[in-house]
Amino acid sequence: MSAVIQESAQTRQPLVSLHNLNKHYGDFAAVDNISLDIQEGEFLTFLGSSGSGKSTTLSMLAGFETPSSGEILVDGKSLVNVPPHKRDIGMVFQRYSLFPHLSVRDNIAFPLAIRKLSAAERDKKVDAMLKLVQLDKFAHRRPSQLSGGQQQRVAIARALVYEPRILLMDEPLGALDKKLREDLQDELRQLHRRLGITIVYVTHDQEEAMRLSQRIAIFSHGKIVGLGSGYDLYQNPPNAFVASFLGNSNFLRFKAQSNAAATFEGQPLSIRLTSGLKVDQDVLLMVRPEKALALSVPQAAQEPLAAGWNEVTATVTEVLFLGESQTCSVITAGGTAMTVKALSAAGMPLKQGDPVKVRWATADACVYTEWTEGDLNKAAGAH
Ligand code: ADP
Ligand code: MG
Repeated sequence: MSAVIQESAQTRQPLVSLHNLNKHYGDFAAVDNISLDIQEGEFLTFLGSSGSGKSTTLSMLAGFETPSSGEILVDGKSLVNVPPHKRDIGMVFQRYSLFPHLSVRDNIAFPLAIRKLSAAERDKKVDAMLKLVQLDKFAHRRPSQLSGGQQQRVAIARALVYEPRILLMDEPLGALDKKLREDLQDELRQLHRRLGITIVYVTHDQEEAMRLSQRIAIFSHGKIVGLGSGYDLYQNPPNAFVASFLGNSNFLRFKAQSNAAATFEGQPLSIRLTSGLKVDQDVLLMVRPEKALALSVPQAAQEPLAAGWNEVTATVTEVLFLGESQTCSVITAGGTAMTVKALSAAGMPLKQGDPVKVRWATADACVYTEWTEGDLNKAAGAH
């Protein structure tokens, strides 16, 4: 029984498949051999810094750009020769691109007018959309008489009114201030849940990607370098670039001693079992700041190191209070800077210059064998 269920899940055809998709401008690869499956009803986000190829990929899906090579399939059928308006895809851009001389109602009705629906049917669908985006009271206004957030809701209603199966959104909230952006993020999440539509969303804002998406595709230099839920990408980044791009990370360089042990600044450490490691191989360890704990030396003496944990010696360089927890910058004897969480014993906060023991659980640290120096630099995705 369970084997049957598993098989049917594996053979479920994706709604959208990108196969070895490329877009070259001269000899520059804006999109570099991307393959990706998108399931029906999914909220998937392309996240990456400016210039990483997100909009170009989305434009090829919408039909505004032609791939240099590769395939785009919807329901297993090629889209490459289908013009944009026949793709059953709605699109919302960062700039509202509403028609300034048309009312809210006529803006929303526009895609139906060009599809030649009857006036009665048109009115019914537009009314439903006005209600959906809560603009019924503004139907007769012009775009210039609306706030930025309201204009963007009109753009969303206009993209949804002809009931496309797929909605593409390219930084749709990018021009709005933070509070409004967060409100619209909540609205979008609810809209997605209610309509069950497939959404492919582009943003360079990792918090937005985390809030909205079921899965995130991380773009760098025209490639997808990480794909998964925000939780998985954060907890277990597939490579050092994703680790440094999403959230904060500490990187330690060490030498493997076996496939589960290493030395760091002359001290032995245990590491996650990593097959194929050779003795003396250079390896990179990544620990999130909230998973690395600093203890004062007397505190550490009272709390023996638990099995499956590691400890290195360091000195506090700076202490920050962030509400419930204390965050510390420390530097190890060998000069590696780390950001860690301070486990302050009652009444004894750490201070600059204190010697500390930094501890983390072996299971919480990721191990990478291949990386570039650029991967460790948060800004490296941009060019
Ligand atoms: P993103 O949306 O991730 O910021 P884009 O997909 O817009 O990135 O662009 C990817 C890269 O392709 C950028 O380096 C951009 O300059 C380049 N690019 C995009 N469109 C063109 C074009 N029409 N001609 C030349 N280069 C382009
Ligand atoms: Mg873009």
